[in-house]
Amino acid sequence: MLTINAERLLGELEELARIGATADGGVSRPALGAADLQARAWFKRKVAEAGLHYAIDGAGNQSAILLSDPPSDKRILAGSHLDSVPNGGAYDGALGLLAALEALRSVKEAGIALPFTLEAVNFTDEESAIMGLLGSRAVIGELTAADFARCKLSEAELTQRLRAAGLSRASMLNARRDDVLAWVELHIEQGTRLESGGCDIGVVNAIVGIRALQVTFRGEAAHAGTMPMPQRRDALWGAAAFIRRARRHVMERHAPGVCNVGWIEARPGAYNIVPAAVELALEFRHGSDEALDRMQAELTDLLQACAAEYNLTVSWEATPPVRPAVMSEAVMRAIESGAQALGLSHQRLLSFAGHDTQNMARIAPAAMFFVPSVNGISHNPQEFTTAADCVNGGNVMLQCLLQLARAGAGV
Ligand SMILES: [Zn+2]
Repeated sequence: MLTINAERLLGELEELARIGATADGGVSRPALGAADLQARAWFKRKVAEAGLHYAIDGAGNQSAILLSDPPSDKRILAGSHLDSVPNGGAYDGALGLLAALEALRSVKEAGIALPFTLEAVNFTDEESAIMGLLGSRAVIGELTAADFARCKLSEAELTQRLRAAGLSRASMLNARRDDVLAWVELHIEQGTRLESGGCDIGVVNAIVGIRALQVTFRGEAAHAGTMPMPQRRDALWGAAAFIRRARRHVMERHAPGVCNVGWIEARPGAYNIVPAAVELALEFRHGSDEALDRMQAELTDLLQACAAEYNLTVSWEATPPVRPAVMSEAVMRAIESGAQALGLSHQRLLSFAGHDTQNMARIAPAAMFFVPSVNGISHNPQEFTTAADCVNGGNVMLQCLLQLARAGAGV
C-alpha cells in the first residue's frame, strides 16, 4: 500500500511552526498579517520544490495542484488553513494542509496516474482575524460586499493587508469555483473524545449548527436592604435558575448537544439594588435542525418557567442561525475505508467547532476527519498531537484521496 513520507510531513510541521512562533511554543499567524504572509510564501516554495503546480485565487486561497492527464474538468480538493488564532497552536489547520500536500507529493512520486486532478488548498482567514471562513465562503460564491461590513479590521487595515497579499475586495468577490468534485479536510479534534476512547480517527458526520438567543429577564429594582426577600422580583434569581437548569436539561435530554451562557449583565448593576433586568447570551449547538428545533422549544419553555417562578417576565431575540452541515456519506466511507486499510480504529462524531468544510459541503460532497488532540487542548500554545497520530492522519488522507479519485463521478 502506498504511504506518505512520514519524516517529511513531521519535518515540515516543525518548520512551519517556526513561522510566527511564540515564546511559549505556540504560533501566532492571524490571517494576512506578517507571519501569515511568511507562511504563505513558505508554502508556495514547498509546492515548487515538490514539482506540483501552484495557483492562488482572488480570495488568496493557495493551491498545490497535481494535474491528471488530461486535466479533468472537476477536481478533488483537500486541505485546511495556515492562519492561526493569536497565540494559538502549531497543529490547528497546519496539519490538515501539510497532510494534503504530502498526499499529493506521494502520489506524484509514485508515478500514479489518476483520472482526476487533486488540489491541496490553504483557505484564507479560517480563524476570523478578518471575518472567519472567508476563503471558503468566497469559493462557494456566498461572499458579498455586505460581508465586509462585519470585518473585524478597520477599513484601512483591511485594505493594507489585502494589498500586501496582492488581493482586493473586488478580487475576493470573484473567487467562486464550479469545478469541485469533492472536498476532504483533516483536522485535530480539539476535544477529548478520541483520546478518551482510545480511537485513532474521528469521522465527522456533521458540523453542528449554532443558534443563539439574546434573553432579557425583567423584574423590578428595589432597595437591597429594605425590600423583604419574598417580595423581591430579582431578575438575576430567574437568570441564575435558568442557567443551572439549562445545563442539566441539555446534558440529560440533548446529548451530544451543548449549550453555553457566555455573557451576562445585570441592571442597574449596583451592590445595593435588587437587579431589575438581566440580559444574557444563550448559545446552543447540535448536528441537525430537528434537534436544534427541539432544544430551542424546550429551552424557551424553561425560560418561561424560570420567569414565572420568580415573578418576572422574559423575552428573547434570536440572532441569525448557523445551519448544521451534514457530511457526504461517500466521502465519509472513503475516509473509513482508508482507516480500515491502515488498521486504524475509527468512529463517527459531530464537530462542535466551525470549519471551512461546512462551506464546502454546500457545493460538493464533503467530509472531514479528526486525529486526537492531547488533553483536548487547542487554540492554545500547548496544543499537541503525537507524531504517530499526525502520520496516521496523513496516510488516511492519502488513501481517501486515491479512493475518491478512482471513484470519480461515483462520489
Ligand atoms: Zn482549524
